[in-house]
Amino acid sequence: MTETTEKKKRTQIPRQKMPEQDPKVRAKNFDEVPFGYTPELAKLEASRCLQCKKPTCIEGCPVSIDIPAFLDLILQGDFLGAARKLKEMNSLPAVCGRVCPQEDQCEKVCILGKKGEPVAIGRLERFAADYEMAHGEFIMPPKAPPTGKNVAVVGAGPAGLTLAGDLIKKGHQVTIFEALHKTGGVLVYGIPEFRLPKAIVQAEVDYLEKTGVEVRTNMVIGKIYTVDELMANGYNAVFLGTGAGLPTFMNIPGENFNGVYSANEYLTRSNLMKAYLFPRYDTPIAKGKKVAVLGGGNVAMDSARTALRLGADDVYIVYRRSKKELPARIEEVHHAEEEGVQFHFLTLPVEILGNEDGWVCGMKCQRMELGEPDESGRRRPIPVPGSEFTLEVDMVVVAIGTGANPLVPSTTPDLQTNKWGYIVADPETGTTSKKGVYAGGDIVTGSATVILAMGAGRKAAEAIHKYLTE
Ligand SMILES: Cc1cc2nc3c(=O)[nH]c(=O)nc-3n(C[C@H](O)[C@H](O)[C@H](O)COP(=O)(O)OP(=O)(O)OC[C@H]3O[C@@H](n4cnc5c(N)ncnc54)[C@H](O)[C@@H]3O)c2cc1C
Ligand code: SF4
Repeated sequence: MTETTEKKKRTQIPRQKMPEQDPKVRAKNFDEVPFGYTPELAKLEASRCLQCKKPTCIEGCPVSIDIPAFLDLILQGDFLGAARKLKEMNSLPAVCGRVCPQEDQCEKVCILGKKGEPVAIGRLERFAADYEMAHGEFIMPPKAPPTGKNVAVVGAGPAGLTLAGDLIKKGHQVTIFEALHKTGGVLVYGIPEFRLPKAIVQAEVDYLEKTGVEVRTNMVIGKIYTVDELMANGYNAVFLGTGAGLPTFMNIPGENFNGVYSANEYLTRSNLMKAYLFPRYDTPIAKGKKVAVLGGGNVAMDSARTALRLGADDVYIVYRRSKKELPARIEEVHHAEEEGVQFHFLTLPVEILGNEDGWVCGMKCQRMELGEPDESGRRRPIPVPGSEFTLEVDMVVVAIGTGANPLVPSTTPDLQTNKWGYIVADPETGTTSKKGVYAGGDIVTGSATVILAMGAGRKAAEAIHKYLTE
């Protein structure tokens, strides 16, 4: 067969679906939604890759994974080799394979997507990483000789974990200080089990610990030690990867009624404090029957799907723009729809109503229409006069975004922040206004993505290494 016929044959293979739980069943459990590819499906999907001479997919990947190479290893049946190839550039492939917005990154620019459907790069990344977790054994990565330098990492989210993994390999001693009792950041307290099983995040952290990274949980920096105290205690550099976990509200009347949650609190109670495992864990959480979730991002979808699983009869996403502008990943919107989440588009909540006992009993809303694009490039929602209506609800989850936690900046006087409270840091190096202190991830950019936080951790690791050794 000539190369052209071979390529043509490959393009005729349809993109392989990932088997997943039936929507009716999964809407009532917290088990992971997709089961993942079987080895046969993975090989078939990998065989669709054209092994392009100029692989556009690599350009679309924020950490430049050699995508054709790992796909070819899958095709050859060398699944462990594929996982190792991924790990050359990405220390958390099992996480990224599940939560990265691939449709906007590597898959968006895959050459096959021009005429048909792109290679399912994300699903294959997940497959290879899961295979390694199930069948691989721990191999100590090559490590440079000890440099005698100590680095403190504040925050165990994707930015801090990636940085720690890189610096330990370069021979530095690394200690992670995490405020919560669990490591993983948003991966454990925000993203629910049905989308990202916690055992996967834990396995990645266990791996880091085996390589020599010290992890200290229940350590709130800014309270137990300030950044200056860390430096006085022998840390030669400090990385701040504290995320953007401060809840924000709409500032509409009625937000103080019982039954109104920030998405952060709601998801943390369910995920991290295991309220979803009642009665094994008796963490208090309201279980509304008619729940409104305000917002349209991944956080809103996660909250809505959690509410369904905790027993709500009706869950509404209330979003002031149209479906086209929803910022959540398409796959997650699709999953939410399949599970029965109802969408109120072009709807703005204006007041939360409460009963005489102080509990939510409804929400006043106003219909919107879209006008000219605003500074964000999206069409601005404009209220339609006289279109107010009341939505009958007994619980409201506010998922409209988060802000920067002020604790570390407020206890580190010479650390520059911007007008929103985010730490000012060089995007290429993570360098802050304070000597020896670096920052990256959501605490610099505002709420973004796992892979961008990891990329920031990687760049800062490089810069810290230079700072400590040159
Ligand atoms: C519900 C939800 C769903 C999401 N879904 C997706 C998705 O599908 N795909 C995607 O790519 N992104 C998603 N994101 C965004 C993504 O998770 C974040 O961009 C990413 O986790 C940021 O990483 P980070 O390391 O900067 O911070 P974080 O993950 O926020 O981690 C920061 C860590 O620092 C700790 N910390 C804070 N202050 C201190 C202190 N003073 N001392 C010690 N420790 C401290 C925190 O406890 C936390 O563990 C989602 C976010 C949320 C909230
Ligand atoms: S662009 Fe698509 S087809 Fe080409 S190498 Fe990358 S994944 Fe394969």
